[in-house]
Amino acid sequence: MKNDEQRAAVLDGARVAEEIKREVAEEVSRLKAEHGVVPCLTVVRVGEDPASAVYVRSKVRTSEALGLRSEHHALPAATSTEELLDLVASLNRRDEVDGILVQLPLPRDVDERRVIEAIDPAKDVDGFHPVNVGRLSLGQQTLAPCTPVGIIELLERNSIPVRGAHAVIVGRSQIVGRPVAQLLLQRDATVTICHSRTRDLPSITRQADILVAAIGRAGFIRGEHIKPGATVIDVGINKVTEEAEARELFGEEAGKRLRTISERGYTLVGDVHPAEADRIAGKRTPVPGGVGLLTVAALMRNTIMAARWRRGLSAQMA
Ligand code: NAP
Repeated sequence: MKNDEQRAAVLDGARVAEEIKREVAEEVSRLKAEHGVVPCLTVVRVGEDPASAVYVRSKVRTSEALGLRSEHHALPAATSTEELLDLVASLNRRDEVDGILVQLPLPRDVDERRVIEAIDPAKDVDGFHPVNVGRLSLGQQTLAPCTPVGIIELLERNSIPVRGAHAVIVGRSQIVGRPVAQLLLQRDATVTICHSRTRDLPSITRQADILVAAIGRAGFIRGEHIKPGATVIDVGINKVTEEAEARELFGEEAGKRLRTISERGYTLVGDVHPAEADRIAGKRTPVPGGVGLLTVAALMRNTIMAARWRRGLSAQMA
């Protein structure tokens, strides 16, 4: 345990996201000047899920700000699997389309798996197609899921040693836990994946030099889970609406959060208990302001990589 004045250093997602976006914008200019190519990202959204609408807007806005072309297909909630498959097939055929992203979750009646599997793997900028998942698990260069790519960028650009480090990941989803485990393994970390059936979780997470929490439960990772000095990457995005819960999570620093709850009705909290992690971790990502900001930046980077690879150009950004 540290003394009262010491606290975990903050890993600033905004700074790294801006760096990646600047590199993407430079790469867009280069592709245009040298090859006459303007990479194009298409985003498909089905239905009226408000969170999906916010994510899609941010993806479209960011791509435009960086000089990419973007296309947004907003389809009604009643769209069938077949209609969606037709749209994906037409996007696959269009040579000027470099990236196809189908925003998840899809409405319940749509066969999500069939839709994802219909996307041309070369245009699968979310990295969810089985071909890309397979390549990732074979340790090959591929389009990998955006949040894990963002986490690796955050670690590397903050000079956090990965080779030989013990990385423990809590969560085994296809979107975060499994792919981040693969990317860390590729970089020579010793990787342990935990999940809801793991016995005595704290005894395992306490071995972690790098602890990644991708669970979906506010403040679940407590002081007892963290090795002193560890780097803690908090992927969780949870809404906390109760003032008492915010006070318990943020301690003396709860004031701003309480104001946010009274203005907006909720505050965003990660899977890591912020006050306890501050006392024990060496470095940690804040929520908001950490991993969340990197996901869109990584998507832009994936789109550039897809545009280059599809045209047989080396991926200078890789
Ligand atoms: P998910 O698909 O629901 O997976 C959650 C994982 O946590 C599962 O593997 C589950 O284990 C495990 N888990 C649940 N309770 C546990 C417990 N008590 N002990 C140990 N493990 C437990 O979630 P996800 O899509 O990976 O997302 C996780 C969090 O990250 C969510 O808060 C989500 O909003 C956030 N997220 C953020 C971003 C971003 O851009 N920052 C991107 C994606 C997701 P089982 O497999 O055994 O059920």
